[in-house]
Amino acid sequence: MSRKPLYLILATCLFNSAAVAATPGNQPAALNQIREAALKSDWAYERLADLTDLVGPRLSGSAGEAAAVQQVAAAMRKLGATVTLQPVKVPHWVRGAESAELVEYSGRPAGLSQKVVLTALGGSGATPAAGLTAQVMVVRDFDDLKARAAEVKGRIVLFDVRFDQDMANHGLAGQAYGQVTRYRGGGTRMAAEMGAAAVLVSSAGGANYRLPHTGASGLQDGLRIPAAAVAVEDSLLMARLAARGPLSMKLTLTPQILPDVDSFNVIADLPGTDKAGEIVIVSGHLDSWDLGTGANDDGTGVVSSMAVIDTLKKLNFQPRRTIRMIAWANEENGSRGAQAYLEANKAGVEKHFAAVETDEGSGRPFGMRTSAPQSAGAFAAPLQAALLPVGAAAMQRLDSAAGADVRGLEQLGVPSFSPLIDDSDYFSYHHTAADTLDKVDPQNLKRHVALVSLWTWYLANMEQPLGRANGAARQ
Ligand SMILES: [Zn+2]
Repeated sequence: MSRKPLYLILATCLFNSAAVAATPGNQPAALNQIREAALKSDWAYERLADLTDLVGPRLSGSAGEAAAVQQVAAAMRKLGATVTLQPVKVPHWVRGAESAELVEYSGRPAGLSQKVVLTALGGSGATPAAGLTAQVMVVRDFDDLKARAAEVKGRIVLFDVRFDQDMANHGLAGQAYGQVTRYRGGGTRMAAEMGAAAVLVSSAGGANYRLPHTGASGLQDGLRIPAAAVAVEDSLLMARLAARGPLSMKLTLTPQILPDVDSFNVIADLPGTDKAGEIVIVSGHLDSWDLGTGANDDGTGVVSSMAVIDTLKKLNFQPRRTIRMIAWANEENGSRGAQAYLEANKAGVEKHFAAVETDEGSGRPFGMRTSAPQSAGAFAAPLQAALLPVGAAAMQRLDSAAGADVRGLEQLGVPSFSPLIDDSDYFSYHHTAADTLDKVDPQNLKRHVALVSLWTWYLANMEQPLGRANGAARQ
């Protein structure tokens, strides 16, 4: 060991103290600095362009998913975060050929057929390679299907249940989506159980540019009939033709289920100081459907979460609690990433102070929804003041505020947080080939980064306890 002159030791100390991260806590000045840093940064948009333009679609088990894991991990390592790849076995469903035409209907001019625009649902079974031809049975809802149970065997069942854009325009987009996806999930399963040859649903979306919207079906091994979403226009056409008389379709869908694949949750920690053992999660899901490039679903959530660490690193701010960015694996067709995390962290779940998840697109954010208990109601006043200039100061308390990836944590008592977003347009391109980078407004993305950076930082530095979510509310 060499002995250094005193002036060198002093110089080294001064240099180090300048480099040591600051812990300014939840002072208004610090909160304002975070907001301004987020609003002027293009970092998140650049990462979103990398993810969507360089990698593209990222369905579980695909090469795109694997490349995305490496890309996000590399970006987080570059920021100096502590990166862990948590192994997750993910399903590997691969889309094949998909085509359909109406080959028989009352009033059909000789020799004509009508093309139907559709796309296979995740987990769909396959038709023979040459297709199958069967009569189409159009039903309005579950009761209609049950009432006509005797007709189902050997038919192609179409649930002509349409997305209610008017509800979406009035702040109820999630509910409008749920009304339709009940058929994509439970309806496909029911039709399979009743002996249908195939099952179709009207697309769960509102733009109606003759786009089919994919999504997970409710089909499982042993009950895997061909299943597809048809463009809303084609669902309407089939309902009209069926009203004229018998209607037959030739349907070809050749998806495959391959063996499960090794994938990962990308976990990147920004270690805390005096409360480093407590964790605040900020997250989005890295997988996407295969048709588009998943810019809104959920590239926005992933890069906003990544940008929390970028923003704090730029300011050299160090949180008291550990901030954990998670890019979840396999949200779209299995939630295996969330399950793996829950399994590994069940025992120490109480060290999770809060969990933020963004998965509703890049519409303008207005604030935050949370399942933190009511008693903690006023805890965010300084934070809300800092968010006023972004127009994102609202806070809504719900029994459950969690999306699919943090729902399990919430059920175990971890308060969840998810941005309150204008999602009236979200389902226009959701799960379609048109979910691409150009649909994301760069200014809104900056507002998202400001919102999640401020909330995550604030939660990571709170003095008072937040309490536990009422997990029973969701069970
Ligand atoms: Zn999503």
